[in-house]
Amino acid sequence: MNSFYDVWEGVCDYCRNSIHEVAYNTWIKSLEPVDFQNNTAIIRSLSDYQKLIVESHYSDLLKKGFEEIFGFPVELTIIVGESVPKHRQNDGDDVTAKYTFDNFVVGSSNKFAHAASLAVADNPGHAYNPLVIYGNPGLGKTHLLNAIRNEIHRKFPEKSIVYTQGESFMNEILEAINNVGTVDFREKYRKADVLFIDDIQFIAGKEATQIEFFNTFEALYRENKQIIVTSDRLPKDIKSLDERIQGRLEMGLMADIQQPDFETRVLIIRGKAKALNFDIPDVVVQYIANQLKNNIRQLEGVVNKLYAYHNFGEEPTLAGAGNLINEVKKDDMPEPVTVERIISCVGSAYDVTPADICSNKQNAEIAYARHIAIYIAREVTGISLKTIGKSFGRNHSTVSASIKKIESDLKKNSRLRATVDDIIKNITGK
Ligand code: ADP
Ligand code: MG
Repeated sequence: MNSFYDVWEGVCDYCRNSIHEVAYNTWIKSLEPVDFQNNTAIIRSLSDYQKLIVESHYSDLLKKGFEEIFGFPVELTIIVGESVPKHRQNDGDDVTAKYTFDNFVVGSSNKFAHAASLAVADNPGHAYNPLVIYGNPGLGKTHLLNAIRNEIHRKFPEKSIVYTQGESFMNEILEAINNVGTVDFREKYRKADVLFIDDIQFIAGKEATQIEFFNTFEALYRENKQIIVTSDRLPKDIKSLDERIQGRLEMGLMADIQQPDFETRVLIIRGKAKALNFDIPDVVVQYIANQLKNNIRQLEGVVNKLYAYHNFGEEPTLAGAGNLINEVKKDDMPEPVTVERIISCVGSAYDVTPADICSNKQNAEIAYARHIAIYIAREVTGISLKTIGKSFGRNHSTVSASIKKIESDLKKNSRLRATVDDIIKNITGK
């Protein structure tokens, strides 16, 4: 690690491992390291708006990231300006370029998904269509998706590729609807020869988005255009996913990725270290592989940190790896379920802001989201109705009325039941 730019790469890895990929890609990825003076890191953002968001939401995270690497507290100054092209020529494509079939380690946990991906990359539209790659977070779905994308781009440069994430797809649709831009939107998606959507589970329960996805799917499928999606579970287990969409996805090939076995984990750690030109003693590699079993992103995080320390002259030891592993395990503890988190999850499921949920607005959609949030708060937190009421700015009897209403609706409406179950699953991770 010789320059501030290298340090910055480490900080980015830290952030990427700590926040949602979409948030990372939206706010952090395009930041640029400028200088480091008097214990202050100077970072450039592309706009005043980005600066505002980063300062209000991500400055603690960035500071923590710097502290991890430097070992001492660091101040942060964000300036606004044009990006300097030097390090960022391939911006947006760096993740894509990084994930290839060559650096994907194949083991019994992923060999089926890997083979299916190769087949689709060889013969898009004619091998398996759609291809659905599913599995828990951090097991290589996005990696495989990008490997297919790179391979198709290399073999069939004339093919038009559209690559997006479930959440971005949803945001684009909402934006198109608000600005009456649905025609452009359709044109973009319907002219794809190959459509990739990462994390399709995000569109579940979102009416307008699901309709648009279904129509796009039909249009592309009819013309033998290849569709490839990833999901964190089997489509039929995403309860609030439209049944027609479940049905269409099931027509294709479902390829799961499981947790890697010990040997695969060892090979992955070695592969990551080799890519950095970094030697980790076998005993340390095996120790890490033994300790971290269910998320490859975590394995990679430990390797990157050991590498950062190594660049400061600290060689990778069992003790050093042990400390990093403990940190990862600590971060792995489920986030506590707070009423704030419930409000935010319900808000995103119903396209309503948290502020609206806690407001006095009586518009039907907002009021319904509020009832749901109150019901879920009672179901999953064990907090008294009085305290729940306080969080929503409501009294005890209003809270009881909301709960009764939802209990009665749930008995009559199985789709609502599915939506509520999905939200609870997202909140509790169970
Ligand atoms: P997911 O999309 O399933 O959450 P990712 O594809 O983002 O997971 O993988 C997380 C990290 O683990 C990535 O950096 C990826 O390169 C790495 N990874 C996952 N599986 C493998 C593998 N089989 N070989 C090499 N690296 C892998
Ligand atoms: Mg992913």
